[in-house]
Amino acid sequence: MAVVEPLPDLPGQRRRLRLRSPATLEIIAEIEVHTADDVRAVVERARKAQLHWAELGFAERGRVLRRAVHELLARQDEFVATIEQETGKPAFEALSAEIATSCDALEFWAKRARKLLAERIVPLHLMKTKKLRLVYKPLGVVGIITPWNFPFVLALNPCAQALMAGNAVVLKPSEVTPNAGRLVEELFRAAGLPEGVLTCVTGDGETGAALVEAGVDKISFTGSVRTGRKVAEVCGRNLIPCTLELGGKDPMVVCADADLERASSGAVYGAFANAGQVCVSTERVYVVDAVADEFLRRVVEKTGRLRQGTGGESDVGPMIWPPQLEIVERHVEDALQRGARVLTGGRRNPEYDGYFYEPTVLADVDHEMLVMREESFGPLLPVMRVRDEAEALRLANDSAYGLNANIWTRDKRRGTELARQLRSGCAVVNDCMITYGIPESPFGGVGESGIGRVNGELGLKSFCSVQSIVVDRFGSKAEALWFPYHARKARWLRRVMRLLWGTPLGRWLS
Ligand code: NAD
Repeated sequence: MAVVEPLPDLPGQRRRLRLRSPATLEIIAEIEVHTADDVRAVVERARKAQLHWAELGFAERGRVLRRAVHELLARQDEFVATIEQETGKPAFEALSAEIATSCDALEFWAKRARKLLAERIVPLHLMKTKKLRLVYKPLGVVGIITPWNFPFVLALNPCAQALMAGNAVVLKPSEVTPNAGRLVEELFRAAGLPEGVLTCVTGDGETGAALVEAGVDKISFTGSVRTGRKVAEVCGRNLIPCTLELGGKDPMVVCADADLERASSGAVYGAFANAGQVCVSTERVYVVDAVADEFLRRVVEKTGRLRQGTGGESDVGPMIWPPQLEIVERHVEDALQRGARVLTGGRRNPEYDGYFYEPTVLADVDHEMLVMREESFGPLLPVMRVRDEAEALRLANDSAYGLNANIWTRDKRRGTELARQLRSGCAVVNDCMITYGIPESPFGGVGESGIGRVNGELGLKSFCSVQSIVVDRFGSKAEALWFPYHARKARWLRRVMRLLWGTPLGRWLS
């Protein structure tokens, strides 16, 4: 049974979708699919509202974000309940990964955007008669399109950065979790954000595609590689920038000197938090042969202690989107056919009607198997023995993806050195997944994991257009390279070139 079902069309009305809880299969909501006309009207309204919002300046914009933090703290239970209802994830996970990280993101950007986006004078290496000033301006209206796995924070965080940079935002959350997206609009509205500056439009891929075509000035997209490609193609045609935060197949490398107690707990958390539906979840493990048996023993034992269910005291919730569960099942079937062994799990949880798949540990896997090559995005932990760290790194880099990675060793310096050799946008030594939750850290991937960064100075500046303003300082009557051209001027230029780039003194000066 689908969690999103189309309802019969009513003449003259928008399409509608019905949502079910992935945990209980109960009907939880109906939403309207906003049309291309709706989206264009919202973008137009946002364009007008943006001018006033940008004029308010950093201090006032920051005040709105801070009021949003207070509002979120006051209404955290209500927000957790909505996220829990739409995704089935354990309440603690909604609180920690969605609400706490959102509070931090709002406070962080409210406090720091002014400094990071302050106008700067850049000293010039050569043209001492000029002054260069860099000015960071808002882009205008930013379209933000988001997925269902962390439906609140993955929408709120780019919105916070785009807003602090002075943009207006049109947000299109996943059709699987539209209410969590609507909460982002509601939160900012309650915090005093002027009308039209942030609007949430709901619907499926059609609404998302309409937003990309609606004349926005940037698209910030988080989702699958397949949709990311489509979004990038349209942005290319329309010549607007896009940031693509796409999938991952994050490797974990366990070195011979790893603290196995911490590494095995990290593997279980990294693979099964949010039922593995995290772009930076641990999707494949390479463990050095010498410690593989002990590592696997601990992993299986800790996986067995996880409590699956929904609500209060559970650890691992359901799969949120049924087609993803089918991918997980296909990966396990393929692995078993090719000789892998299930050490624990390996099936849907028969205790529930909803989309629960048991946390699963697989051994004897290799790189022929889908589970080691394609994103599973579910509660699977395939573990592969390797001869040594060199083999682990070679296999870790043998992937079309390159989002995050984690390395476990007692030697932190060596861990950092190994991390440098990984082809990934982010890497973690002796921990996992945390990169998205560190606002200072530019987050994003290489290869099929995407283009561009969210978070960090780089991420914030991706919501701006940088204007360079060069001012002549002394106002002489003419410049040496202006008209007229003549042979004497060419001889003089050659001498200057020889001095500047052909002598040690010149190279030092330039
Ligand atoms: P998806 O690509 O199916 O959908 C993402 C969003 O795009 C949804 O809002 C959807 O309605 C919209 N959409 C669909 N078709 C569109 C189109 N043609 N034009 C514009 N928008 C369109 O992804 P999903 O299934 O919701 O999310 C799961 C994927 O997201 C996984 O691959 C996961 O790794 C990835 N993800 C990446 C990050 C990251 O930061 N790198 C974070 C979370 C999830």
